Amino acid sequence: ASQREKGDPLVLPPGTTSAQFKDFIKRAQNICGADNVFVVETEDQLVDGTYKEPNKTHDMHHLYDRSHFVCSATIAPRDVPGVQDIMRLCNELEIPVWTFSIGRNTGYGGAAPRVPGSICLDIGKNMNRILEVNVEGAYAVVEPGVTYFDMHEYLEQHDLRKHVWLDVPDLGGGSIIGNASERGVGYTPYGDHFMMHCGMEVILPNGDLVRTGMGALPDKTAGHKPGVPPHEQPGNRAWHLFNYGFGPYNDGIFTQSSLGIIVKMGIWLMPNPGGYQAYMITFPKDDDVKQVMDIIRPLRLQMVMQNVPTLRSVLMDAAVYGDKASYHDSKEPLTEAELDDIAKKLNIGRWNFYGALYGPEPIRNVMWSVIKEAFSTVPGAKFYFPEDRPEPHSILRTRALTMQGIPTYDELRWIDWLPNGAHLFFSPIAKVSGDDAMLQYKVTKKRSREAGLDILCDFVIGMREMHHIVCIVFDREDPSSKKKAHWLIRTLIADCAEHGWGEYRTHLAVMDQIAETYNFNDNAQLKLNEQIKNALDPKGILAPGKNGIWPRNYPKEEWVM
Ligand code: ADP
Repeated sequence: ASQREKGDPLVLPPGTTSAQFKDFIKRAQNICGADNVFVVETEDQLVDGTYKEPNKTHDMHHLYDRSHFVCSATIAPRDVPGVQDIMRLCNELEIPVWTFSIGRNTGYGGAAPRVPGSICLDIGKNMNRILEVNVEGAYAVVEPGVTYFDMHEYLEQHDLRKHVWLDVPDLGGGSIIGNASERGVGYTPYGDHFMMHCGMEVILPNGDLVRTGMGALPDKTAGHKPGVPPHEQPGNRAWHLFNYGFGPYNDGIFTQSSLGIIVKMGIWLMPNPGGYQAYMITFPKDDDVKQVMDIIRPLRLQMVMQNVPTLRSVLMDAAVYGDKASYHDSKEPLTEAELDDIAKKLNIGRWNFYGALYGPEPIRNVMWSVIKEAFSTVPGAKFYFPEDRPEPHSILRTRALTMQGIPTYDELRWIDWLPNGAHLFFSPIAKVSGDDAMLQYKVTKKRSREAGLDILCDFVIGMREMHHIVCIVFDREDPSSKKKAHWLIRTLIADCAEHGWGEYRTHLAVMDQIAETYNFNDNAQLKLNEQIKNALDPKGILAPGKNGIWPRNYPKEEWVM
């Protein structure tokens, strides 16, 4: 470090000299403007920040040292040609780039790149326009910097919620494009964000610009004009109405991927259903999860349960109401009896189910009677509407907002379960079935105990499967707590793979390990992904190592973690 000169980053991009880096920075400043180029020169500049003010250099919830997954510089292109120029420059100088839209991505790595010293492209800082809200077609077209909060405010300001609703994830500060690109979920009937996206404009690793689906067909009737640059041409009238266009469907390869940077995307909005009612059902026993899941499956499949409901373990809710110290002075994982006490004290269940009914009152009443009857077979089940839960920070009242597409920040509160609270998400997929849920819950609970950590988890119910989200909360200033969290996630990945369970998304630190579990037929899928990677990105500059896919110029034995 003593040999570092002024202008050198804390960590250089791999294979790049100080002189090359400085040349790169000068040229990047010419492309994007000096204000939009920030070099990380010292450790002091690595400030974790908060969800509301996230950093743009590293992982706020660092599992290793703060400076492990760190970029050399953060660069914010001003527009589409700026992104294209940066990609061409990175190809020329063979410098790796990592893209984020907002950089929150909490629990999965935040703004941090997989390869230390990469350039972070802060794509959302300047490219943050809502390009269109089309009420008739019930969709919006956005740039990467548009957050759920931004879109919500737009709908409110233009009095559009009476026509269309947005689907939002637990926290509203993320990018609509960033979340769909990671295949994140929300909780209205439109909860599967990739399913509900429609039409992308993407910059490939070589800087080429592509529109997917119907966007590939120029539309003279929409005002397509020769001479206007491609990214400013109006899109085809059906670009955001029909996903597939003609030929192979490309959009999937731009999700959880290192093959492109999405600069525009259509997202379907849900027509206002004409009525809404959120509800909560509590179940008293830890083992109730088995019976409850078998009740949920047919109801969800038949769409009597219209939205993406969640079944939350007691601590997931309790942690929103207060930190661990507010319940107990124990440093050990809480015992079954202690968990029962907490449930009793808060008047909630060991499991708490949150769903909603959509439509005019007669429709809701029919749905509710079916749902209520089905769950009444669980001994001790209790049913609530939001007005029945007046306590401060009532989860039901927060979920009542989320399930109608109104973003909130309330779910941030559980991260503070421990002091200096940080978290990792472990998120395996499972069948919606009592046996699967019970077994997966048991496996994760047992290992959490062994790690000395409490289990905070919920089941997020999709159309036919569920995302089991285990929130591994640790103290980021305590090395032993970090070590426990790391051991736990690595062990859980291995355990779950033994049961045939795989994760839908993950943190940077374990991308390689999870990629290796998807190894059917001698890693055929990984080999396919590597072939596509090498074909589209021969210099291996875009997000090397993302989701375990390494381009050929990154020898795996040196990089895999
Ligand atoms: P959030 O929206 O939660 O703040 P980020 O902006 O940090 O999330 O993005 C999360 C991840 O999604 C990034 O690490 C990156 O892999 C991917 N991503 C984000 N934006 C884009 C984009 N515009 N194009 C392609 N991938 C993206």
